[in-house]
Amino acid sequence: MDRAADALRKEIAMRGYLLFVAAVAGAMVMTVHAQAPAPVTPESLVRAAKRAAGTDYPGTFLRICVAPDNLQAAVGRGAAPPAARTVPDRALWYAKPYKVFDNLYFVGTKIHSSWALTTTDGIVLIDTLFDYAIEPEIVEGLTTLGLDPRSIKYVLISHAHGDHDQGAALLQSRYRAKIVIGAADWDSTLQRPASTPGGVPHRDVVVGPEGTKITLGDTTVDVIATPGHTPGTLSYIFPVRDGGRPVVVAYAGGTAFNFPRRAENFAVYRDSQRKTAKAAAAAGATVVMTNHTEFDRAYDRVRIVQLPRTVGEKHPYETDTATVLRYFEMGADCAEAQRLSMQ
Ligand SMILES: [Zn+2]
Repeated sequence: MDRAADALRKEIAMRGYLLFVAAVAGAMVMTVHAQAPAPVTPESLVRAAKRAAGTDYPGTFLRICVAPDNLQAAVGRGAAPPAARTVPDRALWYAKPYKVFDNLYFVGTKIHSSWALTTTDGIVLIDTLFDYAIEPEIVEGLTTLGLDPRSIKYVLISHAHGDHDQGAALLQSRYRAKIVIGAADWDSTLQRPASTPGGVPHRDVVVGPEGTKITLGDTTVDVIATPGHTPGTLSYIFPVRDGGRPVVVAYAGGTAFNFPRRAENFAVYRDSQRKTAKAAAAAGATVVMTNHTEFDRAYDRVRIVQLPRTVGEKHPYETDTATVLRYFEMGADCAEAQRLSMQ
């Protein structure tokens, strides 16, 4: 009996040991699997971009990750500035001007943004809308806000597409404002026919790949060359004030994928997103702004700014640096997803 019981005990012990060995081996296999880097695929990048977008950037995620404009080759060739157009119904685009920060004013339309950054020595105007919106939005808008359009000293054009640059020639000729455009976008601008809506500005301040700083009075705008959306796209880092408190804005100068659909173009776009993120991180930016209201909800936010805030409530445009960096991470991931999907 004792022998039989002893043998049974040994067998049970052995089975337990084997089970233990099997469990350890299984765990090791699982550990090995967990440590192997997951392959980066277009799908995994889109998932990463969706996480980065969170609930903060649905418009941009939709535009460049869900249904990029250049998925069809025919669209991809359409990187030229929009052709002459008739003036759309004013009710579709007109937006009232608003003060948004102590020294930053929205003078854009429902669709496109134009911003007036005021300094101790005049105005830096960022982006200039389609030609039909220049007088009602920028010239009359500034006047309504108690600002003088004659004090516009610099006009920063984020990129040479008609929805952002058709006001440049008028502001240059009427107010002698200096027009700042990326080198490659100056080249495409100067090739336009004189009959282009809004006219063609004369070559003025040219920004090369190294970027530049534009200083007016007490304010300096860090101008970063961020090719991708167009070869000469510029993005900006600049200071604003919210009730006297300094806040740093990161302004993304070009967003949609409506450039020729080639792998190298997506790589350039991706790298520019990372470059802007680096500059935004270094400057401690807590605000993302763009030139289309769909990307930063400008139309809604500039109105919400007008409401009284409770003590400690943040400015409607302000987030934190981590949230700002997620914007550019999303852009880089969406571009990389497209680049990989082409290989
Ligand atoms: Zn554009």
